[in-house]
Amino acid sequence: MVITQVSGTLRDDVRDLTRRWRDEGRFVPRCDSWVRSFDLAFSKELADRGLIGMTWPTEFGGAARTNVERLEVTEELLRAGAPVAAHWIADRQIGPAILRHGSRALQQEILPGIASADYLFCLGMSEPEAGSDLASVRTFATRVDGGWTIKGRKIWTSGAHRATHAYVLARTERCEKKHKGLSEFVVDMDSPGIEVSPIVDMSGEHHFNEVLFDNVFVPSHRLIGTEGNGWRQVVEQLSFERGGPERVLSTYPLLVEILASPELGLSREELGRIVARLAVLRRLCRLVAQELDRGCAPMQEAATLKLLGNTFERDVIELARSALSARDRGLGSSFAQALLASPGFSIRGGAADVLLSIIAKQEAQP
Ligand SMILES: Cc1cc2nc3c(=O)[nH]c(=O)nc-3n(C[C@H](O)[C@H](O)[C@H](O)COP(=O)(O)OP(=O)(O)OC[C@H]3O[C@@H](n4cnc5c(N)ncnc54)[C@H](O)[C@@H]3O)c2cc1C
Repeated sequence: MVITQVSGTLRDDVRDLTRRWRDEGRFVPRCDSWVRSFDLAFSKELADRGLIGMTWPTEFGGAARTNVERLEVTEELLRAGAPVAAHWIADRQIGPAILRHGSRALQQEILPGIASADYLFCLGMSEPEAGSDLASVRTFATRVDGGWTIKGRKIWTSGAHRATHAYVLARTERCEKKHKGLSEFVVDMDSPGIEVSPIVDMSGEHHFNEVLFDNVFVPSHRLIGTEGNGWRQVVEQLSFERGGPERVLSTYPLLVEILASPELGLSREELGRIVARLAVLRRLCRLVAQELDRGCAPMQEAATLKLLGNTFERDVIELARSALSARDRGLGSSFAQALLASPGFSIRGGAADVLLSIIAKQEAQP
């Protein structure tokens, strides 16, 4: 195994849990499990152990742990290829966004439900004409008596067909500057006017969707933070989205398979290089977690981590191409899972070119 630094019982507990579930045949380790492996019972077990929303205050169902401790947990879950998709988005970014910007009423209403794995979130950011250029969203929220009605179309919405709630970035005012007049909402997925249509990806799997909002009513208190401040808030949220170990470890189960291969056709240099890169990336993950613990939103560090992490994930696939036999690279193998998921690695959560711009702009600052 590549990750061997054990820092205490938290990591051991997660290892024991995933080993038990795997040995009982309750899941099969797989690549990209944080998007593609959904098992509500597993998420509930994590919730029962206080491992969802673990950095949040106890009054909201959290365990008041640090982000560095959370990193130990998320690393172990990804490393095991465990079925974590049910709670991943809510735990990673919606909870923290509500904790930072939501009203106390919204925090009380939503956070305990996420921590208990009763509330599952999907992420309604991208639209047909707004991906990299997220500020171009056209979905519009109009003020009505007691709240808002949302009208628009979101796309590539992972897990929308199973989510109980959606995070929605919408325009609440038409401004000359497109970064102004945006707001964030929490929407019940069973609200009248929501239509979810599946999009099957090239691996034949259904994880993302198109979601139509046709005058969907959202009560006033479901606004996250301040009306019109959505851009500043969502940019902060992107550092939670980009700065975690899932941007490095999507192909880790394949790496384990490479190293376990009896006919390992790799040189010591090749092995040393990939393991050293992993060590550096883990340090970056830790740096981001430490910054989050200091209350910062490390945008540039998270962009750097995602850019380098996605390259690592793809290079593991290339390594497998030369290290594994053709039989071990067949349909249904970890290699096939990783290869078919890989076009999305450097697109989801921010395309590589866009991340390069973010990093370059930081370098340009005095
Ligand atoms: C597996 C997967 C899951 C996803 N899940 C979700 C989800 O749950 N919720 C959600 O809201 N979205 C989700 N997305 C959408 C994702 O965030 C967008 O695909 C991404 O932001 C890119 O937007 P786009 O597809 O519109 O591509 P575009 O914005 O059209 O970009 C296409 C390409 O053009 C280039 N480009 C664009 N703009 C620039 C620029 N400014 N500078 C340099 N080059 C540029 C880049 O090379 C980019 O790859 C998911 C995507 C994938 C692949």
